[in-house]
Amino acid sequence: MRGLMMDTPLLISSLIEYAALYHAGTEIVSRTVEGPIHRTTYLDARNRSKQLAGVLQRLGVEPGDRVGTLAWNGYRHFEIYYAVSGMGAVCHTINPRLFAEQLVYIINHAEDAYLFVDLTFVPLLESIQEQIPGVRGYVVMTDAEHMPETSLPNALCYEELMARESADFDWPALDENTASSLCYTSGTTGHPKGALFSHRSTVLHSYSACSLDTLGVCSRTIVLPVVPMFHANAWGLPYAAALAGAKLVMPGARLDGEGIHQLVEAEEVDLLAGVPTVWLMLLGYLEQNGKTIDSVEKVVIGGAAAPRSMIEAFQQRHGATVIHAWGMTETSPIGTIGTLKRQHDGLPEEERVTLQLKQGRGVYGIELRIVDDEGNELPRDGVAFGELQVRGPWVVRSYFRHDGEILGDEGWFSTGDVATLSPDGFMQITDRSKDVIKSGGEWISSIDLENEVVSHPSVAEAAVIGIAHPKWDERPLLVVVPAEGAAPERDEILSHLEGRIVKWWMPDDVVFVDELPHTATGKISKLTLREQFSDYQLPTA
Ligand code: ADP
Repeated sequence: MRGLMMDTPLLISSLIEYAALYHAGTEIVSRTVEGPIHRTTYLDARNRSKQLAGVLQRLGVEPGDRVGTLAWNGYRHFEIYYAVSGMGAVCHTINPRLFAEQLVYIINHAEDAYLFVDLTFVPLLESIQEQIPGVRGYVVMTDAEHMPETSLPNALCYEELMARESADFDWPALDENTASSLCYTSGTTGHPKGALFSHRSTVLHSYSACSLDTLGVCSRTIVLPVVPMFHANAWGLPYAAALAGAKLVMPGARLDGEGIHQLVEAEEVDLLAGVPTVWLMLLGYLEQNGKTIDSVEKVVIGGAAAPRSMIEAFQQRHGATVIHAWGMTETSPIGTIGTLKRQHDGLPEEERVTLQLKQGRGVYGIELRIVDDEGNELPRDGVAFGELQVRGPWVVRSYFRHDGEILGDEGWFSTGDVATLSPDGFMQITDRSKDVIKSGGEWISSIDLENEVVSHPSVAEAAVIGIAHPKWDERPLLVVVPAEGAAPERDEILSHLEGRIVKWWMPDDVVFVDELPHTATGKISKLTLREQFSDYQLPTA
């Protein structure tokens, strides 16, 4: 027997319509590329999204067409999110930090009809324009006054196009499984792969983001996504904020500590979200300038493991609660969330932080399991570790224009992460499967090691990689970036690790460097680091 409830499709256009109706005056504040702070409201953003949908129609964009963006977090990018998806086309956010060849590959693979581009990235597109002949035109996200001289063919000015359009556009009643947005993973090996989200998956994911045990976005929230809108849709925050009617603060091109701090203070931000690299910059700035972030209640840390020292700095020095989260582009991205339970209230702070080092419980909607090399499920005992697999309504079942099956038995998606699951449901990532260090048939967790190393006050950043070893297969090499003004010694770092890690995990050597290589999504690039140290001779070899 079928239920007798309405079959209302879950559509992205309904999010902005809801926000415009119930939170008409709630603000979207953006630091613009042109310079000034720009303020708008949900009502205005809804109207301008409709205007833009009209513009797209006039440009000949059809349902299903891909419309690319190379842009920072800002109100125009927000309008593009809603206009493109709302009219039934696909909003393809492109990470401008990728190498030129990767950009060319992605734009051609996606067959982007138009590209919307912030002023910052016009020269980047000019440099590859000949290799992306399929692009019909470029829309520069600025007004007539700031429109640059450009060699881009068919370059149009965003505000000039908008000025000619009314807000009369009617959102089509799409099937909720219609594709809405496209995001390529940086693909540390092989070509980037496109995760193609749907209206349904996006709305369900937004509901989850708003639940109190997840990110807890609500109408009182003032959220600043430092995580870029070209990185897994800024973790879904531009959608969740509209669903909840939260005030949105967009940092534009300034992700440095001072830039973020200014916005936090001026707009009384209470929820921050970003990867550890940006928090290093913010915490460093606060420390050096004796500044605080008093309005901030919660800091979401994801994309890479949050080290103990970072969690402690936010919680103990700045009175904010850290929410450690795990996810990937393929999971929209929210997968697990490290909010603590009532039963953890009485624990000493140190033990609470130890729990927060874990990436947290699967949120409702995401099933998790770990498996061994043969695909057998491993126990949830907090000790056994194996490849993490996930399943759920906002997890990819295939990639865009990709041949072949990507899911395993019973529809599980293999994440490429290695993790433990504890009996109370907390998941902890020990490594990416390609980064684990195999020593004498056992695995060493590079993430655990790195976390311990960065708790040393003279260490700014650290990475551990496996180096070939004649007896043990691989042994860990520790690569350290010293904190500003510090000059730590090898033995000092190693003795700091004594007692904090099992003996046989002790790195065989330590190297000091000025900086570590990072990927386009701000993570330490172990691949590049392994290449840099491919000829390295361990003293123990
Ligand atoms: P990219 O490979 O392009 O950076 P994603 O942003 O999708 O792609 O990265 C997802 C990966 O990031 C996960 O598979 C995992 O390895 C890592 N990751 C995400 N969050 C965390 C976290 N909290 N702790 C450790 N690793 C994380």
